[in-house]
Amino acid sequence: MNPWEKLEILGAAASYDHSCTGTGLSPEAPLTLEGRRRLPGIYLAQTASGRRLPLLKVLFTNRCRHRCAYCVNRAENEIPRAAFEPRELAEVALELFRRGLIKGVFLSSAVEGSAEGTMERLLAAAKLLRNAGFRGYLHLKILPGAAPEQVREAVRLATRVSANLEFAREKTLKRLAPGKEKRRLVAALALAREAALEAGKTPSLTTQVIVGAGPETDYDLLRLAQNLYRNGLLSRMYFSAYLPVNPDPRLPPPESPPPLRRERRLYQADYLLRLYGFRYEELLSPGENLPLHEDPKLFWARRHPEFFPVEVSRASYEELLRVPGIGPRLARRIIEARRRSILTWEGLKRAGVPLERAAPFITLYGRRRERQLAFYFSSSAKVSHT
Ligand code: SF4
Repeated sequence: MNPWEKLEILGAAASYDHSCTGTGLSPEAPLTLEGRRRLPGIYLAQTASGRRLPLLKVLFTNRCRHRCAYCVNRAENEIPRAAFEPRELAEVALELFRRGLIKGVFLSSAVEGSAEGTMERLLAAAKLLRNAGFRGYLHLKILPGAAPEQVREAVRLATRVSANLEFAREKTLKRLAPGKEKRRLVAALALAREAALEAGKTPSLTTQVIVGAGPETDYDLLRLAQNLYRNGLLSRMYFSAYLPVNPDPRLPPPESPPPLRRERRLYQADYLLRLYGFRYEELLSPGENLPLHEDPKLFWARRHPEFFPVEVSRASYEELLRVPGIGPRLARRIIEARRRSILTWEGLKRAGVPLERAAPFITLYGRRRERQLAFYFSSSAKVSHT
């Protein structure tokens, strides 16, 4: 099999790993399965600035000794298998890079033989790439069971590293991914952080959790995310809606639709944790999932009428961030604008504030927006007549 034929198999096999989309998977990521599967090998990652970044996303090998219940590559599955040689993989990546088809590379792998042996070959491919002058984005997966010095080497070579925790609860991990231990995966993230700091780099660490394969609720997943963020062990958590690929009594039935909308709500809630100052306990109580019909910020706002209306002319940055429709950029813009001049509804609209969304939750110099008043009066009038 030549390296390009291997790429067909190993690029498609990597599509199930979502922990590699550069600086951020947009909440606008495709909601359809076709959207997820259409580009084996080359994927468009969206950066925080909204730029699309084509990445080669590929497994080093899909031959695996593990038997993770949810994984298409698990040992017992009869599927086409392949493995690159380090030089082959480096040459494929360099060729695509030279042709301008990719701007970065994400290398992950199943575990063929020993974890350390597979990790060594993955690192060899990464070294060949860097030694050939590749300075683009490089994301390396830390395989479960990799040695500490391999974690350090991965951090040295890569722009970003990840270790997939898969589930929030140790018990679920044991049941569905018997070869993995949460304790060791978290330790790998901690070691990667330490190695990055020692090397004078800002740690760039991600993980993936699977949504809907185990009993974890959104509360569990967001709690895990926040704890890792707080301890500096994570830059970004990726949520991967469970796609049924294996019939297995431990998993939801194969005909269950992947929880793509739930995944999207989790991404939105994760933004609230990382960028808006929310805490997971504010969004959900133990055992709860996020509502699917509205975004988590609106959900929170509706549950907290005591917080509103927010007076835009003097609210703090943190208070503005609680208003549906106002994000960090708009909050900064509002604060900047009110230093210079008197705010008006028209001015807020021109600055980009989506008033249809935000107006029910704000006042400006003590007054609600007129249209909002009309809405309030008409709705209260309706109530009084019924
Ligand atoms: S370790 Fe588990 S999740 Fe990873 S490739 Fe092997 S079977 Fe799949």
